[in-house]
Amino acid sequence: MTKQTREFQTETKQLLDLMIHSIYTNREIFLRELISNASDAIDKIRVQSLTDHDLLENDPDFEISLHADETAHTLTISDNGIGMTYDEVVENIGTIAKSGTKSFLEKLKETGTLGDSELIGQFGVGFYSAFMVAEKVTLITRAPGQTSGVCWESTGDGTYTIEECAREKRGTSLILSLHPDFRSSEKPEENFLNQYTLQRLVKKYSDYIRYPIKMNFTLKGKQDEPDTIENRTLNSMTPLWVRPKAEIKPEEYNQFYKEVFHAWDEPLEIVHTKAEGVVEYTTLLFIPSHAPFDFYQREMTSGIRLYSKNVFVMDNYQDLLPEYLRFVRGLVDSPDFSLNISRELLQHSSQLKKIGKNLEKTVIKTLEKMLEKDRPKYNKFWQEYGKAMKNGVYSDFANRDKLKDLLLFPTSHSAEELTTLDEYIARMPESQTVIYYATGKDRAAVERLPQMEILKEKGLEVLYLFDRVDEFAVDALREHKEKKFQSVSRGDLKLKELDAPTEKKDDEADKQENESLLAAIKEQLKGRVADVKISNRLKSSPVCLVSGDEGISLSMEQILSEIDKPMYKASRILELNPDHELFAAIKNLHTTAPGSENFNDYCDLLYGQALLMEGMTPEDPIAFAARVAKLMVNPGK
Ligand code: ADP
Repeated sequence: MTKQTREFQTETKQLLDLMIHSIYTNREIFLRELISNASDAIDKIRVQSLTDHDLLENDPDFEISLHADETAHTLTISDNGIGMTYDEVVENIGTIAKSGTKSFLEKLKETGTLGDSELIGQFGVGFYSAFMVAEKVTLITRAPGQTSGVCWESTGDGTYTIEECAREKRGTSLILSLHPDFRSSEKPEENFLNQYTLQRLVKKYSDYIRYPIKMNFTLKGKQDEPDTIENRTLNSMTPLWVRPKAEIKPEEYNQFYKEVFHAWDEPLEIVHTKAEGVVEYTTLLFIPSHAPFDFYQREMTSGIRLYSKNVFVMDNYQDLLPEYLRFVRGLVDSPDFSLNISRELLQHSSQLKKIGKNLEKTVIKTLEKMLEKDRPKYNKFWQEYGKAMKNGVYSDFANRDKLKDLLLFPTSHSAEELTTLDEYIARMPESQTVIYYATGKDRAAVERLPQMEILKEKGLEVLYLFDRVDEFAVDALREHKEKKFQSVSRGDLKLKELDAPTEKKDDEADKQENESLLAAIKEQLKGRVADVKISNRLKSSPVCLVSGDEGISLSMEQILSEIDKPMYKASRILELNPDHELFAAIKNLHTTAPGSENFNDYCDLLYGQALLMEGMTPEDPIAFAARVAKLMVNPGK
C-alpha cells in the first residue's frame, strides 16, 4: 500500500493542539504514559499467547526498551507486545475512541487551560502526550502473524502519514524526535536524552511495571580506559501489593496508584487487605479523590484489575463490584484465577463472586470508618460519589441497611453541614414519630414551599432532597430506626402527636362544618383532584397541593414525565388553610352564591395557584390568566 496522508479527526486535532501549545508543566509524564501503553501491549500478547503460543514468534522474553540517540535527537520506546495492524493504527491512533472526548474538550474550554492536571488526568491522554515533548512522532509497529509492519508519522499539525513498511520484530517502536527544549544539556532534568534523567523518570513513574524496562547505560571509563556500555534494567518490577503492609510508605502507595491507574492526583483512600481461608486473595483498592467528569453520564467506568500470583490476568473487570461502587479502582490478586480464563467464564466463577461480595463489604467498612473518624474527608467523598451511594441504596437490597448509615442529607438544621440519619434522629424531640423530608431543586426552592412553614414554626427538622435519585432511595428505605420517612407534601404530617393536648384542634368539628364547602370545591375540580381537605400543614399560604398516601408523589411524577414516563400520575389532594382570609372568602361565597360562576372561578384559581407553587403549570394557563384578570378588574365581586 502506498503512503497516504490523512487528517486527524477534528476532536483529535483540538486535543493535539492543546497538548502542544498548553503550558502544562509536568511534561515528563509522557514517558510514563508511553511505557504503560507498552506494558499494556505486552499484557495483551502474553494473555493471548497462553492459548496460541505461535503468536510469540520465538521472541518470548517480554521487555520494554529505551534508546536515546544523541545525534539524531531521538528517544525511542520499544516493546515486543501485541503491535498493531494497519487498520488498528488508523483506528487507535488517528481517532480518539473515547466517548468522552467531546465533553472533555468542552469542559477544557470552559476552564480555559490544560494546566488543570486533575481534568487531564480524568481523561488520560496516553499516546498523544508524546506531542508534549516531540516535534515529530514516528510509530513503527507489527502485529504477530503479519508479514509487514506499519509506519505512522505526524508532526501534530492536523495530519499524519501512514504506509506499510518493513519491520522484523513483533511489537511497537515509538520514535520521538525531541523538541530542542527537551534535549538541551543546559537543563538536564528536562533533557530526555540524558540517561540519568531517563533512569530517574522510570524509577519515579514506572518502577512497578512488571516487564523489564531496559536501556544501554554508558559508564565512563576511568582515565584512559574506554567507556563501557551496560544493558540495565531500570525498574524493580516488584508488585507493591505483595509486600507487607507495614513496610509500605504512603508515598509508595500514591506513586503506585498514579503509575498503574494513570492518575494525576493522590487517592482519597487506600485499602490494602489480604484474605486467607476459603477464598484467598490480596486486594489493593483506591478511592480516587475525584470522580471522572462524566461519571454520572456513563454506565460503567474502569473496573478492577485481576492478577494471579502477581501475573496480570485481565484489566477492567467490571462484574466484581456492584455498579454503585464503580468509582473504586484497584486490583485483586488471587491464586484461584486461572491465567487464560475468559470474561464470560469469570462471570460464572463462584470464587470470584465470593471475592466480589467481600470486596463490597470491605469498601463499605472503609467508608463507615471514614465517616466515623474523619468527617471532612467523608464529606469530600460524599461530594464526589454521594449520588452513586444513593443509587446503591436503591439498587442493592442486601446492603441497604448498611448503606443507609452512610447517607448524608442537606437539612433545615444547618445550611452548611450535611447530616446522617442517626444524627437527625438524635436531634428529634421525643414525641416526633417520623423523619420529615421535602423535595425540590435546591435549598431556596424547598424552603419556599408553603408546606415547610408550619414545620419551621414548630422547630421540626426537615431533610432536603435535591437529587432525582433521592426520593427513590428514601422510598426504598421506608424507615430508619422505626421512624418512617414522611414527605412534607403528602399524607398526614403527624403533627397532632407533637402538640400539647390543650392545643389540639378539633379537626372533626372543622371538618363537619366545612363538609359542604369541600364537597362543592371537589365537584368543581372533578377529574383534576382526588380530594379536597382542610390542611394542618399551612400557615400563611391559602392552599397547597399534596399527594395521597398511595401511589407516587408529585415530585416523582415530575421526574417520571421528564424521563418519558408520563403515564404515572400522582393522586392530587388540594388542601386549604382554614385560617386564611381566602378560606373565609370562598366559604362566604359558597353560602351566598353557591355554584355561581364566581365560586367556580375561585375553585379553579385556588387549584391553579397550588399547581404553581409546586412548580407545575395550570392545565390551561390562558384560562387561568383570564380568571386572574377578571378578578383584578372586579375585585371583591
Ligand atoms: P489508552 O491507552 O488509554 O487506550 P492511548 O491513546 O494511549 O489510549 O492509546 C490508544 C490505543 O492505541 C491503545 O488502546 C492501544 O490499542 C493502542 N496502542 C497504544 N500504544 C500501543 C503500543 N505500544 N502497542 C500496541 N498498541 C498500542
